[in-house]
Amino acid sequence: MTMNIRELDKQYIAGTYKRFPVVAMSGKGSVITDENGKTYIDMGSGIGVTSFGIADEIWQKAVCDQLSRIQHASNLYYTEPCVTLAQMLCQRTGMKKVFFSNSGAEANECAIKAARKYAADKYGNDRHVIATLRNSFHGRTLTTLAATGQAHYHELFTPLTEGFVSFDAGDLSAVEKLNENGTLAAIMIECVQGEGGVIPLEPGFVRRLAAFCQKSDVLLIVDEVQTGNGRTGKLYAYMHYGIVPDIVSTAKGLGGGLPLGATLLGPKCESVFSYGDHGSTFGGNPVSCAAAVSVLKRIDEPLLENVRRKSRFIFDSLSGADGIEAVSGLGLMIGIKTKKAASQVVNECLEKGVLCLTAKDKVRLLPALNIPDETLAAAISVVKEVCQNGE
Ligand SMILES: *Cc1c(COP(=O)(O)O)cnc(C)c1O
Repeated sequence: MTMNIRELDKQYIAGTYKRFPVVAMSGKGSVITDENGKTYIDMGSGIGVTSFGIADEIWQKAVCDQLSRIQHASNLYYTEPCVTLAQMLCQRTGMKKVFFSNSGAEANECAIKAARKYAADKYGNDRHVIATLRNSFHGRTLTTLAATGQAHYHELFTPLTEGFVSFDAGDLSAVEKLNENGTLAAIMIECVQGEGGVIPLEPGFVRRLAAFCQKSDVLLIVDEVQTGNGRTGKLYAYMHYGIVPDIVSTAKGLGGGLPLGATLLGPKCESVFSYGDHGSTFGGNPVSCAAAVSVLKRIDEPLLENVRRKSRFIFDSLSGADGIEAVSGLGLMIGIKTKKAASQVVNECLEKGVLCLTAKDKVRLLPALNIPDETLAAAISVVKEVCQNGE
């Protein structure tokens, strides 16, 4: 069966993914079972998506209940789950309005459109430049690629959308310079650069950046696609930094395993969109939104405290261990700089029944927010063992 699935995949699926030799057949919580019945501890959560693990019963019930009512209605009609979710998101962030889409890239596209329209309405079309950080990742559409500050993602696909510039994290003077000719509409950041190697931004820089944005009426967009929804031990990572963004985009873990993106608009730009300015056929799908309502309800203070506690356990276990050079990240978003190549560590962990990710030259861990302590301890001991054994 493995051979068959792998061969069919190779024959019929566009070759964009280098997959691990595992067919994910089923699972429960933080354990995934492959086609041969081999089990793995899931330290990747489908890249930070399955917030409460595989086939979680509360999540499943929320999805099945909504499925049995109505699975889709289009945005021509009202549905209940998407308004409930929007209300929850606004009440918990202080943001004012939500636009729903289906992915992180789309959530960022909407953020970019909102920022451009805000600036154009107020200052004219010349004010359209969006500044993003070097080493950032904002998605794979041509516009979000343009926003992504890593040239190797761009090379094969030029020309990209115009009007994006990048600057180094920490370099506020670069931003001030970019703003001199009055064309800067917005700045977009990830508080913890995920794909860039799980690198948290320096708090002082983030606060100065936020102050600059406020003073200059340049919108601050925080991309919480990976960092959001409890991942870092707060509901959104910006909450660690004591800042208030103008726009927040999120996706990945929001739906707990169903596709859903959300763009949260703050007071400045809550009214920026009118009928027809933006849209999405599937956006705000009632099943995805019902799933997200059930996810968000569970991300309360005790859960977040557990995320932070599990995070401390990981840092304490791995920092200074043999073969480990550094541990970075926030909450259950962890990057590990290993002596061995990260890809080799991940392959050896997989052999030993632990699924990990990479991010650039790091091993990356994004376990479910509710991973049981014993399961987490077992996985971390495998990671440690693999890191300490020489090639
Ligand atoms: C994954 C990710 C995206 C893209 O999300 P998709 O759902 O794959 O479009 C955008 N920004 C960040 C920070 C991400 O981690």
